[in-house]
Amino acid sequence: MKRILMAVCKQEVGSFNPKPTQYTDFEIRRGAALIEDLRAANTTTGGAIEVFTEHGNIEIVPTYAAWARTTGGLVVQQDLDRLVDELLAEVRANAEVDGACISMHGAMASEEEGDPEGRVLAGIREAIGDVPLVANLDLHAVVSQRMVDMTDALVLLHTYPHVDMRQTGQRSAKVLLEIMEGGAKPTSARVQIPLLARGDQLITATGKFGEALVICQEIEASEGGLAAGINIGNPFTDTPDLQSNIFVTTDNDPERAEKEALRLARFMWQHRELFVADLTSLEKAVQLAEATDGLTVFSDAADSTASGASGDSNAIFRGLLDHNYSKKALLPLVDAAAVAKAHAAGVGATLSLDLGGSIDPARFTPLSLAVYVQTLSDGNFTYEGGLPAEAGRTAVLIHRQHAILVTEHIAASVGLRIFQAHGLEPTDYDLVVCKSPNGFRVHYEALATRIVAVDVPGSTSANLKSLPYTQCVRPIFPLDEDVVPPFALEDE
Ligand SMILES: [Zn+2]
Repeated sequence: MKRILMAVCKQEVGSFNPKPTQYTDFEIRRGAALIEDLRAANTTTGGAIEVFTEHGNIEIVPTYAAWARTTGGLVVQQDLDRLVDELLAEVRANAEVDGACISMHGAMASEEEGDPEGRVLAGIREAIGDVPLVANLDLHAVVSQRMVDMTDALVLLHTYPHVDMRQTGQRSAKVLLEIMEGGAKPTSARVQIPLLARGDQLITATGKFGEALVICQEIEASEGGLAAGINIGNPFTDTPDLQSNIFVTTDNDPERAEKEALRLARFMWQHRELFVADLTSLEKAVQLAEATDGLTVFSDAADSTASGASGDSNAIFRGLLDHNYSKKALLPLVDAAAVAKAHAAGVGATLSLDLGGSIDPARFTPLSLAVYVQTLSDGNFTYEGGLPAEAGRTAVLIHRQHAILVTEHIAASVGLRIFQAHGLEPTDYDLVVCKSPNGFRVHYEALATRIVAVDVPGSTSANLKSLPYTQCVRPIFPLDEDVVPPFALEDE
């Protein structure tokens, strides 16, 4: 029976979010709890566990799983050190294995460190020695050369919005088994692309990016194609490795890996102008919502708590009030102080509050409003994907005809569950705001008459030129003019 080590380390950081991520923001599982709690969830880890279990002759060696409940700002350095130390201690205590399958997001960063995943993978490699090591990553990973060097293959998500977490975990497990048992000799190529991508064309079902991912899937389905993926980075994780990459791994065919990676890189570069977000001004967005019969959904990608933002933007709510939006809106907001006041006042109370700008006051100014406290809760619920949410104490506040779900902690407002868990049915409203660039489409596309990507300030704005980059690869498109990629655009 072959032994396969598993570990999980996931966080997606927004460097421009002033609220740091702490140790307590992570869910931690050790040993068998990793399998028990993740096997059924729509996660890469769950998919890998399924393949290893069905194999029948694999002993999974679960070590340590840490995943942040939501995205957040840079991880506090000593908290990151604690997480990495704990993870590697569990790995070292279980290092007699035949292979390893590691699940990561890939866009983690701390106050001082741009490549924690590279440190984790190097530590795992040191502990387990020269046995096959495969890592699965989000396609928004920020990938370092160290991560490439420490692994035999990187297996990336193939969908955006992401729906193939489980399948990606399965694919990574199968690649590992092909190397361990099938005699495959992984040969990998990486082509770096000086590109930060955003916008609707990234949607795999309808956009140009989807065409490139189909090529990746064809490579993986072909004889000798082990893994192929396009990694566009999280554009808000401002570290020295931030850019886009192609990763292709073949079975003992380095030339083909290079050739396929180059082909994909050229495709992405040729279509780079399409990967710039098309945003609508707030004033125009409110007009569109007013004129729409049926549900309008506003994407507040600039304050996306699924991309690393603080969640305390009140910019859209302010715009609705300023422009006298006459219908019913439902909005999420992170504001611990407002929640505390609402809990002190109790259900049924009417009080004056400052709403918004509690975390990122440089970008958002509090709105002073009279609100009615409709409901209060502990904020514990389960997201659509099966993972637990801990939004902290919450309050549903009513101002005029609008409902604001205020949470103490940062929570992902991508699906419907966050609202439904608080007695709010999104389809009862004319307008719902999702703090999500595109992931919300999985849940809202079938319900919405109109979807509008609104141009408002925020630490994860799709208007990338509005952000204070200091670390990422430069020059890079679209931040800089006349960027020349480090590869030939045609064969010589
Ligand atoms: Zn992602």
